[in-house]
Amino acid sequence: MTGLANQHQAINLSQGFPEFDTPAELKAALARHSQAGFNQYSPSSGAPALQQQIAALVARKYDLTIDAAASVTVTSGATEALYVAIQAVVAEGDEVIVFDPAYDSYEPAIVLAGGTAVHIPLLAPDYGIDWQLVQSRVTARTRAIIVNTPHNPSAKVLSFDDVQALKALLIKHDLLLISDEVYEHITFDGHVHWSALRDPEIFARAFVISSFGKTFHCTGWKLGYCVAPPALAVEFRKIHQFVTFSSFTPAQLALADMLAQHPQHVDELSAFYQAKRDVLVSALASSRFKVLPSEGTYFLLLDYSAISDLDDVAFCQYLVSEVGVAAIPLSVFYQTPTADQVIRLCFAKEDSTLIRAAEKLCQL
Ligand code: PMP
Ligand code: GLN
Repeated sequence: MTGLANQHQAINLSQGFPEFDTPAELKAALARHSQAGFNQYSPSSGAPALQQQIAALVARKYDLTIDAAASVTVTSGATEALYVAIQAVVAEGDEVIVFDPAYDSYEPAIVLAGGTAVHIPLLAPDYGIDWQLVQSRVTARTRAIIVNTPHNPSAKVLSFDDVQALKALLIKHDLLLISDEVYEHITFDGHVHWSALRDPEIFARAFVISSFGKTFHCTGWKLGYCVAPPALAVEFRKIHQFVTFSSFTPAQLALADMLAQHPQHVDELSAFYQAKRDVLVSALASSRFKVLPSEGTYFLLLDYSAISDLDDVAFCQYLVSEVGVAAIPLSVFYQTPTADQVIRLCFAKEDSTLIRAAEKLCQL
């Protein structure tokens, strides 16, 4: 869709990446560490300075004390961490529960491990999880559940009750949790991010995965991490060692400096993106789209059923070529596409870009 947006010179609200730059102090730190000669391999589990800053962030945000060296593994993006966690625990014949709409890398990683993804659909307009349904899909072969909160693409944030239901299920059936928390620092309207790191009983069986790309506006650096109890981290590292071994050293050191010296960046992220969401939502107020709630992430869903009968893929093709706005059709995030007439917009853009896009959408 980004290719199509470029081809049609459309405003690109499709793929999730910020239009604005990563902070100047982070770019300066990257250059500084490279100039100073830190250009060789880091230890496989990550530069110790960054592991420690991640552990400090976990303690500050989630009140959990972890052993940085034993629990934190730095990876080449959250995508690598997801892949590695899945390869580490899923074996031939295992089942993994995945909620649709889902980020697209889960299923291929499960299939490559010889497992089967058991898809549970979440439906418009609220995309909530029916925990009774989840319970009914657990079998003797179920090995793990993949949860993503705040959720791409629905922008839903799991509630405390959701997390309690999840915990009960994990314990009852002795399951592992792969918790994709890449948007952990982007929640709105007072929604609390109930990280798996907040609850020791959940964390005891979890791989908690995050991405610096989302937090520090540097998706192209492809740096993320996995926090897991030491015994699970050992299994994770058996795979990570032979997938990438280690990740880009100067960026690891730069992110360690950033976390240590500019803690407010993380703390201010929710307000920063909430303001952007509000710019987009108010600019769409006079449109015929139905704006669905965005509780977190930098995504907003729009229901266009009052505007067109096209399916969502055709509607997005029309939007990019005729209207000049690129969006993502929601059906691509489902194993069995739904008939929901819903598209996803990314609002990690300059306010002026959001307003220009909304002006075009208001004409429909
Ligand atoms: N999970 C989700 C839900 C995402 O939206 C993304 C971003 N594309 C990722 C994982 C992957 O993050 P990264 O770019 O750090 O690999
Ligand atoms: N996470 C981003 C999104 O959902 C995209 C990453 C990618 O293009 N693979 O748009």
